[in-house]
Amino acid sequence: MSESKDFLRTKVEEDLASGKYKNIVTRFPPEPNGFPHIGHAKSICINFGIARDYKGHCNLRMDDTNPTTEDMKYVEALKDAVKWLGFDWKDTVYFASDYFPKIYDYAVQLVKMGKAYVDSLNEEEIREYRGTIKEPGRRSKYAERSIEENLDLLERMKKGEFKDGEHVLRAKIDMAAANMKMRDPLLYRIRHAHHFRTGDTWCIYPMYDFAHCLSDYIEGVTHSICTLEFENNRDIYDWVLDALELTPPRPYQHEFARLGMNYTVMSKRKLLELVNGNYVNGWDDPRLPTIAGYKRRGYTPESIINFCDQIGIAKANSMVDVAQLEFCIRDDLNKKVPRVMCVLDPLKVTIENYEGEEEIDASYYPHDVPKEGSRKLPFSKEIYIERDDFMENPPADYFRLSPEQPVRLKHAYIISVKEVIKDAHGKIVEIKATYAPNSKSGEDTSGIKTKSAIHWVSAKHAKNVEVRLYERLYKVDAPEGLEDLNPDSLHILKNAYVEPAVISEKPDVRFQFERQGYFYADPIDYTDVKPVFNKIVGLKDSWAKKVESTEKPTPKPQAQKVAHVEGEVAPMNEEEQALFNTYTTELKLNAEIANTLARDVELSRFYNEALSVFKSPITLANIIANEVARELKQTSELTFSAKEVAELAKMIDEGVISNKIAKQVFEEMAQTGEQPKAIVEAKGLVQISDPEKLKPLIDDVIAKNPDNVAKYKAGNTNLFGFFVGQVLKSSGGKANPSVVNDLVAEKLKHV
Ligand code: ATP
Ligand code: MG
Repeated sequence: MSESKDFLRTKVEEDLASGKYKNIVTRFPPEPNGFPHIGHAKSICINFGIARDYKGHCNLRMDDTNPTTEDMKYVEALKDAVKWLGFDWKDTVYFASDYFPKIYDYAVQLVKMGKAYVDSLNEEEIREYRGTIKEPGRRSKYAERSIEENLDLLERMKKGEFKDGEHVLRAKIDMAAANMKMRDPLLYRIRHAHHFRTGDTWCIYPMYDFAHCLSDYIEGVTHSICTLEFENNRDIYDWVLDALELTPPRPYQHEFARLGMNYTVMSKRKLLELVNGNYVNGWDDPRLPTIAGYKRRGYTPESIINFCDQIGIAKANSMVDVAQLEFCIRDDLNKKVPRVMCVLDPLKVTIENYEGEEEIDASYYPHDVPKEGSRKLPFSKEIYIERDDFMENPPADYFRLSPEQPVRLKHAYIISVKEVIKDAHGKIVEIKATYAPNSKSGEDTSGIKTKSAIHWVSAKHAKNVEVRLYERLYKVDAPEGLEDLNPDSLHILKNAYVEPAVISEKPDVRFQFERQGYFYADPIDYTDVKPVFNKIVGLKDSWAKKVESTEKPTPKPQAQKVAHVEGEVAPMNEEEQALFNTYTTELKLNAEIANTLARDVELSRFYNEALSVFKSPITLANIIANEVARELKQTSELTFSAKEVAELAKMIDEGVISNKIAKQVFEEMAQTGEQPKAIVEAKGLVQISDPEKLKPLIDDVIAKNPDNVAKYKAGNTNLFGFFVGQVLKSSGGKANPSVVNDLVAEKLKHV
């Protein structure tokens, strides 16, 4: 059980104590339209974890009410993920589609009660009639239909007498409600589409807001736990269940913050794009944040559960540092797995004064690990060491092997260089060495001083293996799209060598390869002929250092480390709610951005001021909710004003600079207080829209990627994004994306 009680568990305990429920029932309700990711793991841990902690039950329910995107293979992936994380849904997997008949009966009942009607406005009219946050909506004239007429139309909708969009079923609630979602929400729509489970039985499908609460009720769910973006849907949830006057008890909805992680994209739509476009090798690619990917890479369920526990359950959205997840896996494996030796990039060493062979009894674990076990480690005249463990002309602080400096071979002897052999190109191909016979590890009487111990394998006994090294899939902390992919996220080493013990162990074991990191036998591609190992994680957080050393000149605000807020953040007050509504309805901002701005007085003021200078709601909101917000968190006094941010937005809107470049300009503004225009001019950042300037870049990308061109020609049109991304990249982000899009499309027609 989690140590500190979160607000959800507090609520559950209250409800048990007051006798509201006797048994706790939760549910995990994914839509089977993609593989589950680490965000789903969080939801699984919450829902199944609460059921376990209070001796209740958690249903695994497929929320399969959208016929066009769902598939059985995703259902299997979801089951796998839950099982692998160690949870149990007991016997039955539930499907919302199994409730279609019941949900339809409830709809009929609402109509009979005069609480729902068939509307025949089209989509656009429905939107228009809904009104704005300042003005109430108008009710459609069709709301006056008699109960009989509504019943007849609903039945005929079900029978398939109408086309998609001709009619909808709506709840009759309040067209002037402050919560716009309550302005007669849609309950059913016509959709002539084949469903992966119900086939062509239905041509009307219930909307999420109608199906979800009823599915919960039908299953006897007590606590319906979802993410924050459904906060405003809660009123509909309550309305439907109350309006139907159902026999109690009924479920209640509670919201928590969804998990976001830097260097990662999490939405299934974006993951699907990566998979379909072959940017990764399938849903279980070890670089993806999918459960299948982590599993294949070698993460343990314990480490993921631990991570979900650590980040806690909060009521405010936050960004978690991926290093925290990496810490959890390292922490889990450190004490569990045997340490062995693997040479990734071999350099041959011949020990001239050593004859024969021997087996060294080498412990699998260091002294401070409370675990025992050892293996026989063969030693012989020819060994491999890591190429970069030798340097011919080393700097002063180099502690490994060099012509002047002996080194210890871990578990074995001390060797010294006698001769360095090079090929015709000057590349070092072999070291001739000597060893000190009385220097064996544990019984060393040689008196030779060494500064470090390196790993090695006996050439004759070692097994050639393939090792796959993974870097982060994205090279920026808040990736937006394909252009942010890290081109070096996968390295395949075909010439690595492991000591024999690694091979004779059972599959499904993990190792620490000494000094390299943690590794896992690839569960799919590993064969006796070609063993394949995946790097799970390095021994320490090397990324942080790398970023620091390569990016020093422009200190970039790092993704905020999680200041995770435990417990409840107040719901929006009236003023914030009003702002939020204006933002989403009048200014058409998305809910997440609107939420950020509305909840922060300083930000919303800044936004207002910027808007009064330049009226471009969306562009401004994006800059202010992201860049300005981050800046405000870090300093008490901004170096720029709303007016300057408005100027920056104007340059974006007029196509002078791209969104990407705008970020660069912004950072410069934040650091120097310089005017945006001046920065753009001084640095030559003006967006390139001239086709004549862009064409050579495109030609170059096409010429450099013949394989992808062939794949594209063979029908893999998803690669289109790849080409565009490469061109944007090669322009340093300055190319105008929409012009590039058109030009690439044109070019690909003719190659
Ligand atoms: P995505 O946006 O990634 O496609 P989703 O919310 O559409 O995710 P669903 O399959 O509908 O995915 O979600 C199943 C459950 O998992 C829901 O209860 C949802 O709230 C939860 N969930 C999804 N993403 C996250 C996340 N990032 N953090 C926490 N919970 C999540
Ligand atoms: Mg969804």
